[in-house]
Amino acid sequence: MNAKFVDSLLKERVLLLGTSNRKKVIELEAHLLPRGFSLKTPKDYPEPLEVEETGETFIENARIKAIAQSQARGVWAIGEDSGLCVPALGGQPGVISARFSGPGATDQSNNSKLLQWMENIPEPERVAYYVSTVVLSDPDGQIAIEANGECWGRILRHPRGNSGFGYDPLFEVPEYHRTFAELGLQVKRAISHRSRALRLFLTRFDAIAGQASGGRN
Ligand code: IMP
Repeated sequence: MNAKFVDSLLKERVLLLGTSNRKKVIELEAHLLPRGFSLKTPKDYPEPLEVEETGETFIENARIKAIAQSQARGVWAIGEDSGLCVPALGGQPGVISARFSGPGATDQSNNSKLLQWMENIPEPERVAYYVSTVVLSDPDGQIAIEANGECWGRILRHPRGNSGFGYDPLFEVPEYHRTFAELGLQVKRAISHRSRALRLFLTRFDAIAGQASGGRN
């Protein structure tokens, strides 16, 4: 680990997030702000860098986003990639969750397509899980942390609830008998795939910070 970069991270306490998805920013900020770190997004720069997600796995896409943003701006960057996997559909929508229903996809069109594809899938096979992979890249584009989180549930036949985003109105968490869109941000913050990945991420992040000061004190 490059000590100069670790010093800059601890001094500046700013991370560039490789997405401008407002809902993701809010979820990530809920964990980072209390620790004294703030987030920038590509839109905080005059010419936001759009990064194409060409990977075939969540980890590949998370790395692509983190490395591209950190190298373009010379800062520490987080890449996050996530999606919904349905084993009965061979893991789809997977990495193409955001654009499942094709060009111009919206949450509504993606949810409609998912419901259509799952029309004939019986209850016991309507199991699904969200995945989130969070990656940290140093200002040189070297990967410092990779963390993964999953959250399991089932896909309903009709949407329920108004909060959250994406597939949340269709994703029921069995323990609560509620969808993510009914449970709201507080519960999601406790059990979501992104929160789980981020907690693991922060454990490693703290270790880097501790090691840096411990090594020199
Ligand atoms: P990404 O921006 O490529 O990571 O796309 C993530 C996509 O996966 C989103 O647009 C949603 O369709 C889906 N997704 C990921 N996380 C969530 C979540 O927490 N709730 C609902 N949908 C999610």
